[in-house]
Amino acid sequence: MSSITLFGKDRTRLGYENQEWSVWASGMDDIHDRETLGGALNLANELNATFAQMRFNSTSDLDPVMYALVLHHGYAWTVDTEHALGLDCGVPACDPCSFERAIPTAAS
Ligand SMILES: [Zn+2]
Repeated sequence: MSSITLFGKDRTRLGYENQEWSVWASGMDDIHDRETLGGALNLANELNATFAQMRFNSTSDLDPVMYALVLHHGYAWTVDTEHALGLDCGVPACDPCSFERAIPTAAS
């Protein structure tokens, strides 16, 4: 577990490349597929609040610390990382990515 890099250029792929949006929860093998970024953020938000509450109510230090992450094509999603890697961040209203979606560069 400690060898996982969540964010940045050396990030570890946690999910599946062909799933555009999904939510991954630490300590579970489940990956929840979602149609949209909004749907994935919604689920991750709910899971993270639930996990934090579970931890808050816990009476044992042995209980696992858990968290959920939004995955974009299998990688932990942040807009900054996607942009740094030259990828589409997936945010519908992102100006640079919207421009690229409308007029793809000839290089690709
Ligand atoms: Zn973008």
